[in-house]
Amino acid sequence: MTRTEPRNGALVLFSGGQDSATCLAWALDRYDTVETLGFDYGQRHRVELECREGFRAAIAQTFPEWGERLGDDHMIDLSVLGSISDTAMTREIEIETAANGLPNTFVPGRNLMFMQIAAAIAYRRGLEFLVGGMCETDFSGYPDCRDDTMKALQVALNLGMETRFVIETPLMWLDKADTWRLAQQLGGEALVELVRVETHTCYVGERAELNDWGFGCGECPACKLRKRGYEAYLAGEHVTQAPV
Ligand code: ZN
Repeated sequence: MTRTEPRNGALVLFSGGQDSATCLAWALDRYDTVETLGFDYGQRHRVELECREGFRAAIAQTFPEWGERLGDDHMIDLSVLGSISDTAMTREIEIETAANGLPNTFVPGRNLMFMQIAAAIAYRRGLEFLVGGMCETDFSGYPDCRDDTMKALQVALNLGMETRFVIETPLMWLDKADTWRLAQQLGGEALVELVRVETHTCYVGERAELNDWGFGCGECPACKLRKRGYEAYLAGEHVTQAPV
């Protein structure tokens, strides 16, 4: 595999949801070139994937300076994840908490696999920074979103590929109100509005009605968190416990 000379560039794991869209803006604000990466693993909320292109086009148009930095989009078929895991993310089953305390939307190893593939693509593209929306403070409890996991993975990837990748997780210690605040700081109300309307978070893929906080069923854990975060953002508060 040929390797491009390293440049001040980032590869953003971009699913089309609120978190990764905010990460994309964060990266466009600080790197010379930014490429995006999405995964199709048979997720139930495929509508999220369909938002990716719309958000990329909208952010490039609304922020021309960022548009110049926005590079290629990579879409990888990871249907193998759906075939090796049986979770509420890829199957039509009720979202609930499993015996180990984790929600059954947890896809074991998903973010590990995502980062590994991101590193392989970044290697080829000469991009040094891998940016992901992993977050410890969103109450999901996903162990592959933890800061220690990401730091360990950075070491493993660099050892295994003889590289100096830096994994950046700008949302790691932010609550969901802070994530809206970050969008506000990066691109003002225009970016908040883009995130509100052009991204998708709902686990069940509901996109019929635009609520104050964006599209979604309003009932699934992802919607409740997004809704609570938006309300706290408007009120100047924080989200200190999981919404019920
Ligand atoms: Zn929902």
